[in-house]
Amino acid sequence: MGIKFASYGAAREVTGSNHLFQINDSRFLVDCGMFQGKRIPSEEKNRIFHYDPASIDAVVLTHAHCDHSCRIPYLVMKGFKGNIFSTPATRDIAGLIMADTAHIQEKDAEWLNKKKNPVPFAPLFGTKDVLNCLNNFVTISYGRKFFVSDSVECCFYNAGHILGSSTAVFDCGQNRKIAFTGDLGRPGTPIIHDPEFIPDVDYLICEATYGNRLHDPIEDACRQLTEVIHETIARGGKIIIPAFAVERTQDIIYYLHLLIDQKKIPKIEIFVDSPMAFNATSIFRVHQECYDEKVNEQFIMQNKNPFGFDNLHYTTNVAESKKINDLKDPCIIISSSGMCEAGRILHHLKNNIENPRNTILIVGYMAEDTLGRKIANREPEVKIFGQSYKLRARVKILNTFSAHADYKDVMKFVGHMNLERLKKVFLIHGEDDALAAMGEHLLSIGVKEVQTVEPNVEYSLF
Ligand SMILES: [Zn+2]
Repeated sequence: MGIKFASYGAAREVTGSNHLFQINDSRFLVDCGMFQGKRIPSEEKNRIFHYDPASIDAVVLTHAHCDHSCRIPYLVMKGFKGNIFSTPATRDIAGLIMADTAHIQEKDAEWLNKKKNPVPFAPLFGTKDVLNCLNNFVTISYGRKFFVSDSVECCFYNAGHILGSSTAVFDCGQNRKIAFTGDLGRPGTPIIHDPEFIPDVDYLICEATYGNRLHDPIEDACRQLTEVIHETIARGGKIIIPAFAVERTQDIIYYLHLLIDQKKIPKIEIFVDSPMAFNATSIFRVHQECYDEKVNEQFIMQNKNPFGFDNLHYTTNVAESKKINDLKDPCIIISSSGMCEAGRILHHLKNNIENPRNTILIVGYMAEDTLGRKIANREPEVKIFGQSYKLRARVKILNTFSAHADYKDVMKFVGHMNLERLKKVFLIHGEDDALAAMGEHLLSIGVKEVQTVEPNVEYSLF
């Protein structure tokens, strides 16, 4: 039997990553993520597997983001019994993200069913299902080879995207190799290692999220952050930072710690107001194997915690969270959800958005139709908890924090491989414009053939 590959998600779109490999007599998935976006269509797509979950031998999970991991509990509910291979950090972060997703769905169900919908809404999975699927995980460090099935060996390389993220390289025997990038990060990202180059392969399945975009240089992050903090303190205001609880929050904390140590910013009070961010930071603390040299030199070798310092406070209960509001002095509040759709950030925005002395600092991607996007677009008036508020606070956008490679980063990554050997690059995980542009960029560096992967289509390799 030959080698076949099909994408049942993240083909011509950026969520729902789910790919089936059939190699010799084994069938395994790479990633099993949720479709996100508008509720009704995503909800329907999330309930369909285009294969029998019981027929799948294993799952290889590249990283913990919801759009890569969060249908795993549902897969197990539907009969999957095999191993789920990931790095140790990915297992821990995925556990947190899957549990959070279960919790959000359970709350959605409560709220939607109050409205007496003709068809009651049932969560895709619950917290129990998350705990159950964690037993299927087998964790493997970067660079250690393991067998996905009798005839397929795999090795994880650091993808530099989020804590624990990996690029998977499969050796299918007879010197036939296939690589799957997962989501690729950017060189220079704080805390975690840069993306690693991978060995030469015959086929590469590559993400193309930013196939048509270039990011601002990462080196600018600290300088811009310093400027915003000084400007806001000078006006006597507060800095509100909506941030994803995993990775972006830790990136910001790490930078603020550096800036305070270097005395580039004064020691004002900093609040991380998100129980999920607190839990995620605890996971970051134990996975020191994922840190880059800078963190090791600046913190670990000196016996210092990169995510803890005098004026940094993690608030985990509502009473503490409410107290932040009474503070009159300038301070920094980091809270989630990252796109301002739910969570405690809404309270901080409500309390601070109408004061022109304050700054709302945007450090992440804001999807269409979210409150975060409306603020980033500086709409004069926005709705929070159903009430209108005037957007009088200053809005600053830092584009330096993307966790995804831009097209030049991907060109460098692919260009490092033996292009003579590389038969074809399959592009996934991108909108149409990004996919088309990335295809052109890769052909321009000498890649022989580029194929945009169509959803639910089986491709034969070798
Ligand atoms: Zn990702």
